[in-house]
Amino acid sequence: MQHPGPHLETRADLADPEDDATSLVELYESVADLLASRGEWRQAYEHLRYALELATSDRALPPHVPQRFRLEVARLRREHAEAREQSIRDALTASYNRRYLDQRLLEVVEQAGGSASAELAVALVDLDWFKSVNDTFGHLVGDRVLQQVVELLQVGLPEGAFCARYGGEEFVLMLPGVDGAAAITVAEAARARIERYPWSTIVLGLRVTVSIGVAHQRATDGLTRANPEQQLRTADGLLYAAKQSGRNAVAYRVGGEVRLSGAPARRPR
Ligand code: GH3
Ligand code: MG
Ligand code: MG
Repeated sequence: MQHPGPHLETRADLADPEDDATSLVELYESVADLLASRGEWRQAYEHLRYALELATSDRALPPHVPQRFRLEVARLRREHAEAREQSIRDALTASYNRRYLDQRLLEVVEQAGGSASAELAVALVDLDWFKSVNDTFGHLVGDRVLQQVVELLQVGLPEGAFCARYGGEEFVLMLPGVDGAAAITVAEAARARIERYPWSTIVLGLRVTVSIGVAHQRATDGLTRANPEQQLRTADGLLYAAKQSGRNAVAYRVGGEVRLSGAPARRPR
């Protein structure tokens, strides 16, 4: 946006670092108020927008802005970035939260609309018998397990992929642009990594495994704006199949058939 330039008597104030105004942003806001009180709506609007832009963008400030205003604007920008980061992260595990997942899912599906070759894989991950981890070792150990699981899920994710907490002890690996076979490899590697982790270093006797459902869809198979949740519902159905197979497994579909990977020898049939 074009900088509107400080109006009225504020031009002299801007050049003076000893001015009473506590920040450039506040200065622009108060000028906007003054302009609005005179009915100069367009200019008031421009000043308000500029104040907002100063507080939220990374754009360089004009050269005449005094140092203390620069510091104030840098602080406001930092606080805005921190608030944004907090609003999309889960407090316990620092993975992305459901709100971010929903936003990104919509964006990915919307972008896919423009390209026939677009594809999206999602892996829905659920900890096995996690209630008994809490019951046996306590809620704090349960919390540490969730944090460690997220670290293990995030190892080596392909570019553009991320982990989000779907709720409770369920997580989603969202894998935009990843084909079905690669998504199964990512999910199986995560499952094995979690099974192999030395959980006894947290508390003796602790063992943790996960079950995973992997769903994959191409734009040509109906990856459309109308059904952004469809992938997650499909993944949830496959997760159920993985649980039914005895847990510690990855379930996916090939054609009409549900297949499993994991440790079948140890899974009751
Ligand atoms: P399954 O293998 O069928 O998934 O069994 P499960 O015990 O993992 O599933 P269930 O849904 O019975 O229990 C989930 C448990 O996850 C219950 C709940 O207390 C626990 N949980 C959810 N969120 C948190 C959390 O933030 N911290 C801790 N410590 N536990 C949590
Ligand atoms: Mg669950
Ligand atoms: Mg569970």
